[in-house]
Amino acid sequence: MTLPSTYPERNCSLARALEVIGERWTLLIVRDAFYGVRRFGDFATQLGIPRAVLTNRLKLLVREGVLARDDDGAGVVEYRLTDKGTALWPVVRTMMAWGDAFYSPAGVKRALRHDRDGGRLDGEGRCQECGAVAPVPEIRIEPGPGFDPSKSPTDSVSALLNAPRRLLEPLATSASRQAGASST
Ligand SMILES: [Zn+2]
Repeated sequence: MTLPSTYPERNCSLARALEVIGERWTLLIVRDAFYGVRRFGDFATQLGIPRAVLTNRLKLLVREGVLARDDDGAGVVEYRLTDKGTALWPVVRTMMAWGDAFYSPAGVKRALRHDRDGGRLDGEGRCQECGAVAPVPEIRIEPGPGFDPSKSPTDSVSALLNAPRRLLEPLATSASRQAGASST
């Protein structure tokens, strides 16, 4: 027996949340958005996702208010996490930690640090240095002991993502940022 495709009548918020983010690609798109990916082509390159599927998933995430779609009117469209989307960070962090704990014997694949003082974040997202729960924009992500570069794609987007970086910091190249700045 197959599950019904929608859960509106079910008295369960987990079922409702899964309707939005329960599909594999969707949560990977959200993860990449935390890593600073904002453009269609960069999502496509990094994820290796079929373009039609990416189009559908981005539409769903915009419709649900997880991502906002910004169009600068000159052909540059970017997707960024809204506050509702950023509220998914504990979900992504916890699932990554679960994957590290049970499927990464060499250790964490991506280490999380408080960018301000370099402190490691514990399982609750609390900085071991200053004791604060680091807000998402202050979290730095970097390759951990379980990260194997030979298993990572070699495209330019992946190369940027695999270097230490702060969450939400846009991935846009410096050239495109300069172009944007000079047009204002
Ligand atoms: Zn700290």
